[in-house]
Amino acid sequence: MKVFEEKGICIEGTHFKVDPSSCEGTKAAVISHAHSDHVNFNQNTEVYCSKETLSLIETNYKKVGKPHAMKFGEKKRFDSFEFSLHNSGHILGSSQVLLEGDQTIAITSDFKMQDSLVAKKAEPLKCDTLVMEATFGLPEFKFSERAQVYDEMAQWCKKEIGKGKMVVLAGYSIGKSQELTAFSNHYLKTAPIVHEKIYENNKVYESHGVKLGEFLKLDHNLSESSVLIMPPSLCNQHLLQALEFSTKKEIASAMATGWKYRNHFDRIFNLSDHSSFDQLLSYVKAAGPKQVLTMHGYSAEFARAIKRKLGIPARPLSSDEATQRCLAEFD
Ligand SMILES: [Zn+2]
Ligand SMILES: [Zn+2]
Repeated sequence: MKVFEEKGICIEGTHFKVDPSSCEGTKAAVISHAHSDHVNFNQNTEVYCSKETLSLIETNYKKVGKPHAMKFGEKKRFDSFEFSLHNSGHILGSSQVLLEGDQTIAITSDFKMQDSLVAKKAEPLKCDTLVMEATFGLPEFKFSERAQVYDEMAQWCKKEIGKGKMVVLAGYSIGKSQELTAFSNHYLKTAPIVHEKIYENNKVYESHGVKLGEFLKLDHNLSESSVLIMPPSLCNQHLLQALEFSTKKEIASAMATGWKYRNHFDRIFNLSDHSSFDQLLSYVKAAGPKQVLTMHGYSAEFARAIKRKLGIPARPLSSDEATQRCLAEFD
């Protein structure tokens, strides 16, 4: 079994792909999770994913023509190998993919090695070949303990709310904003107002047993809470000014992300749904592969770090610089 990149992660000599960006000629597509850069299928593609991912795909994009919802650990056969899905700790339903044939290939997709309020961390998969994301594959990316970031964020929110301000928290509508909803309930004892898109995804999380606490759908009701959760793409200067105008309150804004850019936000809180540099390395050590193929973000740099620090052969999965560099926005 040989793995390579061509509009998705492919297995040589088969019509099987993981996270295809095009499904032409693909019989079976495994979709690791519901972020848009990983979701692509035709109505006649057999789509394999976790049941949680299927719910999120159908809520956010469109109905899947030929869905196969899989439980974590359940094995299916395709040609000469078996494949199974395993928690990747990134967002609800996010999966690592394990292929077992003449060799064992683990594909991490986006993964997180820390528990959060809404997701359990990924466990490394033992394998011969490891295909892994390297979004934060530079040593400068270090993440604090999550509980510590929650505490810092709670202190800041309480201080700002205490000054009579409205707190706007920005986080991706699938994953981060559910964590922020749970954070607001647990740490601020406040039911936040959430954007409609976030509201729908919160409901999907709840339908799969993840408890987020209470929340209100944004609907001309800004006076009903002091916390508003929005997707970052909508949280521009313009919206913040409009909010100030309509609430007649000052706005304090923060974004939860592993990236360091601040843009127009007052604060950045270091909450990532990916793994830090050290966590990426610890995954490789625990998986014990004979070779590592990196993808996303700092893939070339991280492959060099694996060779240097662990002595394991490593290179980017794709030789195409543009594919390598595509820094995940869904952090
Ligand atoms: Zn993702
Ligand atoms: Zn991604």
